Amino acid sequence: MYAEIIHSQRDFFQTGKTKDISFRIQQLKILKQLIIENETAIFNALKADLNKPPVESFTAEITTVVKEIEHAIKHIKTWSKPKNVQTLWQFFPASATIYPQPLGVVLILGAWNYPFQLLISPVVAAIAAGNCAILKPSEIASHTSNMIAEIFEKYFDKSYLAVIKGGVETSQQLLSQKFDHIFFTGGTAVGKIIMEAAAKQLTPVTLELGGKSPCIVDTDIDIKVAARRIVWGKFINAGQTCLAPDYLLVDQKIKIDLLDEIKKCLQEFYGDNPAISPDYARIINQKQFNRLVGYLTNLKDGKIIIGGETNSEERYIAPTLVENISWEDEVMKSEIFGPILPIIEFTEFQEAINIVNSQPKPLALYLFSQNKNLQQQIIRETSFGGGCINHTMLHCTVPSLPFGGVGNSGIGNYHGKAGFDNLSHYKSVLTKPFLLDVKLLYPPYKNKLPLLKRIFG
Ligand code: NAD
Repeated sequence: MYAEIIHSQRDFFQTGKTKDISFRIQQLKILKQLIIENETAIFNALKADLNKPPVESFTAEITTVVKEIEHAIKHIKTWSKPKNVQTLWQFFPASATIYPQPLGVVLILGAWNYPFQLLISPVVAAIAAGNCAILKPSEIASHTSNMIAEIFEKYFDKSYLAVIKGGVETSQQLLSQKFDHIFFTGGTAVGKIIMEAAAKQLTPVTLELGGKSPCIVDTDIDIKVAARRIVWGKFINAGQTCLAPDYLLVDQKIKIDLLDEIKKCLQEFYGDNPAISPDYARIINQKQFNRLVGYLTNLKDGKIIIGGETNSEERYIAPTLVENISWEDEVMKSEIFGPILPIIEFTEFQEAINIVNSQPKPLALYLFSQNKNLQQQIIRETSFGGGCINHTMLHCTVPSLPFGGVGNSGIGNYHGKAGFDNLSHYKSVLTKPFLLDVKLLYPPYKNKLPLLKRIFG
């Protein structure tokens, strides 16, 4: 069904137009223009899908992408330049060059939680690397999906960048086609389905997945600032952020004080009743709402210490903190992806490290501590996609930091040059003149081995 559109993109790719760096720069500028000119439509769609406040839409969905575009425009000439590298002296005279080449037609599958940014940032990488792309927004954020399809059609030719709307069935139909790369953002379970489908076509994949990202809090902190940064990272978009701190691991000596500060901070951010705050988002749909409420109603020994109020009609769940949680609780068995924050205490820092290492590798890890030794220890002894020390989530907004998971949290990176590299093939070429054709390599091999061993040994 979608073969025709893929075919038209292949034809366009074959013209070689996307290999031209000035074409890529021009398209990146058009993409930036598309975003700027349609800011209100983007705000409205995100509001309709997630009750996303315009400030959050601006910072997390729009500016991030615009910064990515500007960074790519600034560096694309350097990134795409062929690079000469050293050859073996034994091959003298010769030169060796690496040529970054576009892959062809890329399929980009987006998630619903940051439905604009997570679909468009990979497009920046695809354009910069000289590819054509098919974008499949998440059907769950339906207003954003419709808006993206509508505006892209006005700015880009389908034979270069096309948006295909639809749900799981559409994804499956697309996945049965041959692409040169599949870039997927979503959950780990679906990531496995994507990789399996891609394997049938031997298509390389980037999987930007999720996981339970820990946030470790030591005693050596500015407690007010730490609380503020944790609350911001956890409750922005009502916790529906792949990078949100999933649970807190807190030094028991500071737990009570931290909880106090978190409480004050929630009050400062969202007032006495977050349900009427214009700055607090809603859960995307009833299915997700029920899943999250289920965590709260099925706590074993766990206790809600802050929040816990819900309103099904509005899909509202108050910022909620729970303690006394065990790893047997449903809330600890999978990524929470909502405004529920479990608190687990530790007495020795090593316990926190052991907990992190007993779980699948997370997408992010946050450490709050001014202690340089602990900072180094966490980096040395744990594995995670990326993270921050003394903040949450900000690392993903820096274009020069590659963004991606490790192990269960994903395969491959993007943002800035990492995105360009990910969607390029690095073609290695050795060039020799006809001069000096040493016969040592060629048959007959009789008596050549000892000399070859001396030369190459
Ligand atoms: P999802 O995995 O349900 O869906 C993502 C995309 O996959 C959608 O376009 C959907 O249509 C498609 N899809 C769903 N089921 C499919 C199937 N069976 N076959 C083929 N395609 C299918 O993810 P989601 O619910 O939109 O997002 C939530 C998850 O994504 C969380 O786990 C979160 O951590 C993760 N996430 C990761 C990042 C990141 O950058 N690493 C960002 C956002 C979200």
